[in-house]
Amino acid sequence: MERVRFYRDLGLTEFYRRPVDPARLAEWAAAAAESKELAELSPSQPDSQPLQTTHDSNLEDKPIPPRKPISAPPETATAVRPADPAAALQQIREELGDCTRCGLHKGRNKLVFGDGSATARLMFVGEGPGADEDAQGIPFVGKAGQLLNNMITAMGLKREEVYIANVVKCRPPGNRTPEPEEANTCTPFLFQQIDAVRPQVLVALGATAATYLLGQRQPLAGLRGRVHAYRGMQLIVTYHPAFLLRDPRQKKEAWADLQIAMRELGLKTPGKE
Ligand code: SF4
Repeated sequence: MERVRFYRDLGLTEFYRRPVDPARLAEWAAAAAESKELAELSPSQPDSQPLQTTHDSNLEDKPIPPRKPISAPPETATAVRPADPAAALQQIREELGDCTRCGLHKGRNKLVFGDGSATARLMFVGEGPGADEDAQGIPFVGKAGQLLNNMITAMGLKREEVYIANVVKCRPPGNRTPEPEEANTCTPFLFQQIDAVRPQVLVALGATAATYLLGQRQPLAGLRGRVHAYRGMQLIVTYHPAFLLRDPRQKKEAWADLQIAMRELGLKTPGKE
């Protein structure tokens, strides 16, 4: 049912085998508009009840201000997947240890390393842990995580088949965007994780992930909708799920981005012949 709801949010109704009564469609649209979730997460809601997510969605389409330089990812296009990716990830985790390399360690409860399959063909990279992630030590477990799960399911995959990590592994205070110094300190470990998993396709969730993966600041609009060559892998940029919670109208655009990823992975849309 969740998957159907997500498809409906995306505007996908064409895979229904029977003709759809326009009156039913109108009913669904009205029901969606009145749903509790949409009411709670409406962009028109005052900011007095901020959404606890991993991401400041107000920044989604804005470039990161040029306060400090960002580090370009290392040139390792020739890197090959290690013989034992799980052991490689474990080694990176051990190297991180009880990390105090940047100031974000001061406010964290749990370091959020990553989650999923060490041999995944698809990897998602977000911005940083939010309150739920900080409490559990697992990326994308709050409301934005639930939406990411739905997105993965809509692609015909299971969460445990993909790998998920963030630009920074400790929660920025108040869910603010990580400072360049913090992100530059933490991303070498993300790059090592990427090299351990060596997915075929990487999906950058939001402007911060895209910025630090591509090593350049650009508005998201200029990066979405195409495949970027990324160190021997394919990188696709889309909206952060937290932004989609704030602006569900953009789910259709996100689905178009995910379909690019599916095409690169050779996946067919579930429900379509
Ligand atoms: S954000 Fe990264 S670099 Fe900073 S303390 Fe946490 S693990 Fe270390």
